[in-house]
Amino acid sequence: MPVMLPTIMKNLFSKPDTRLYPVEERILYPQVRGHVEFNSDKCIFCSLCAKRCPADAIEVDRDSKTLTFQPFRCIVCAACVEGCPKDAIAVVEKWHAPEYEKTSEVHQGAVG
Ligand code: SF4
Ligand code: SF4
Repeated sequence: MPVMLPTIMKNLFSKPDTRLYPVEERILYPQVRGHVEFNSDKCIFCSLCAKRCPADAIEVDRDSKTLTFQPFRCIVCAACVEGCPKDAIAVVEKWHAPEYEKTSEVHQGAVG
C-alpha cells in the first residue's frame, strides 16, 4: 500500500486523461472529415450524387423530388460533393452531436 500511495495521491488531484464524451465537445484536428450536409434549395434531384456514392447512402426519387440520405452509411469520402453540378452538398468540418437512433434525412424539393 505505501508503494502505491504516490500514484493514488497523483490520481486524486489530477485531471482525467479522457474527454467527458459526449458532454465535452471535441476540438477538431486539421483535415477532419466532418459530415455531409445537403441544401435542398439548390438540388435539382439529378441523382448524380447517388450514382457516385460508394456506400449506397443516397437515394434520389426524381418524380417526387426526394433525396434520402442515410448518414450512418456515409463514409464521408466526398465523392458526392465532387459530382454535384449544383453545389448542393458540402462536407462540413464541425462537430456533430451524437445520435441515439439510425435515422435517415429526407430532403424534399418543391414539386411542380
Ligand atoms: S445533391 Fe447535387 S448531385 Fe445530388 S441530386 Fe441534388 S443536384 Fe444532383
Ligand atoms: S460522402 Fe461519400 S459515402 Fe457519404 S454520401 Fe457522399 S459519396 Fe456517399
